[in-house]
Amino acid sequence: NLVPIGRALISVSDKSGLLELARALDAQGVELISTGGTSIMLRAAGLKVRDVADVTGFPEMMDGRVKTLHPMVHGGLLALRDDDEHLVAMAAHGIEPIDLLVVNLYPFEETVAKGADHATCIENIDIGGPAMIRAAAKNHKFVTVVTDPADYGPLLDQMRAHDGATTLAFRQKLALTAYARTAAYDTAVSTWLAGEIKEPTPRYRSFAGKLAQPLRYGENPHQAAAFYLDGSRRPGVATARQWQGKELSYNNINDTDAAFELVAEFAGGAPACAIIKHANPCGVATAATLTEAYQRAYQCDQTSAFGGIVALNQVLDGATAEEIVKIFTEVVIAPDATEEAKAVFAGKKNLRLLTTGALPDAKAGGLAFKQVAGGFLVQDRDAGHVAPSDLKVVTRRAPSDAEMRDLMFAWTVAKHVKSNAIIYVRDGATVGVGAGQMSRVDSTRIAARKAQDMAEALGLAGPLTKGSVVASDAFFPFADGLITAAEAGATAIIQPGGSMRDDEVIAAADERGLAMVFTGMRHFRH
Ligand code: 5GP
Repeated sequence: NLVPIGRALISVSDKSGLLELARALDAQGVELISTGGTSIMLRAAGLKVRDVADVTGFPEMMDGRVKTLHPMVHGGLLALRDDDEHLVAMAAHGIEPIDLLVVNLYPFEETVAKGADHATCIENIDIGGPAMIRAAAKNHKFVTVVTDPADYGPLLDQMRAHDGATTLAFRQKLALTAYARTAAYDTAVSTWLAGEIKEPTPRYRSFAGKLAQPLRYGENPHQAAAFYLDGSRRPGVATARQWQGKELSYNNINDTDAAFELVAEFAGGAPACAIIKHANPCGVATAATLTEAYQRAYQCDQTSAFGGIVALNQVLDGATAEEIVKIFTEVVIAPDATEEAKAVFAGKKNLRLLTTGALPDAKAGGLAFKQVAGGFLVQDRDAGHVAPSDLKVVTRRAPSDAEMRDLMFAWTVAKHVKSNAIIYVRDGATVGVGAGQMSRVDSTRIAARKAQDMAEALGLAGPLTKGSVVASDAFFPFADGLITAAEAGATAIIQPGGSMRDDEVIAAADERGLAMVFTGMRHFRH
């Protein structure tokens, strides 16, 4: 299964590592064929190169749209070296075999990211490159195809170890990388076009990511894992700069995303902080200062906050950093951090600091995926939003202004808590979070219980839920959940409404003097 490399076609947009590779191939006696810009660079470095135009007998034309799309090239890539008819065809037409293809594509993704105009983006859709990559990958029994400069080193190692040849196992690995690359490339084009024509739904799109980094392991150490980019460049953990700390793990990435998407709801508002554990917030707060927001988020559930992920909606300052380092935290993510804050963190080697430059738009569209056996579900991300004017007061008593502010805050947090979600809020901070229970009344009880525990730990007299408001991500199917919240001291409720027993639930609220509003929108999160 060893195939020696005698002739290589090199056509690359990203020219990093090109000269080193070409020199090493040349030193091994490999004949080099190349396209316009690549040829110029190789020749300038003193290497002997044949132009593709020389091989095809056609000049490169139409602004480079047609360079390598020719039977002399594709025949050389696709011919089976052990098939008599193929060999006869090669001889009849003077087609020479191409044993190694080194191609990386026009930088379409980068061009879109830079905000280039439509015509420039169109011109950066590579046609001949993917055609050659796919041809070479199909014929990997004989042809080696390299699509990533990171594979130049391994290629040369192979050739050194096998006297100028590559193994079938190596060519297979490169072939699957090649198809993954062309699939991701076309997906990027499709995604961009969908945006250009304002395609409103996720239907009929192709989904593939671009490998960002292999991860040490997955959710558990026995699971292999990797992190892929979807091409949207939504600010967050995928685009963040990491200033210090160990490499992010699979769970870190998942939790950091949950944390940052939550604080993004408070873009442009007061300083806000969310502390996340296992993708659920164990404390969220807004306050006059970022430091106070962190302290109040921390106070919601000091036990769970240990080893948590902290997200901030504003630039991390030194004072807040000083507060954060008082306990062990896995990751801090913020739009930016001051030099002072970075200096405070520098002493905590295990703390990872991520900055993103911006907050994602909480109301922007996008896609969310969920895997099931044999397939995956795709839906619009939950960008649903209700304004105070959308709310319907269903009880005799309407919420006070202060209650209304807390109700809106609680509702926003509820959207980011696994169902069944029950959130108690007082003065712009969560005081109890009930997440992921199979029954709504259990979530209501657990959140109240935690608030009680916290009050005891802080040495406070009453439970923190006294005088709080409550959000429920979906309707109360029975009055029991609402009654539990009222017993914990809640005075106002926000929930979607729409249960068969809404009348019972409203009556129970009226009996206890609670104010209740319906949103008409639910926020299941499973
Ligand atoms: P160069 O810098 O060598 O002039 O061009 C290299 C780029 O051209 C590579 O990214 C390669 O994928 C691309 N390419 C090679 N052949 C063709 C072709 O026939 N049509 C188009 N559109 N691009 C090609």
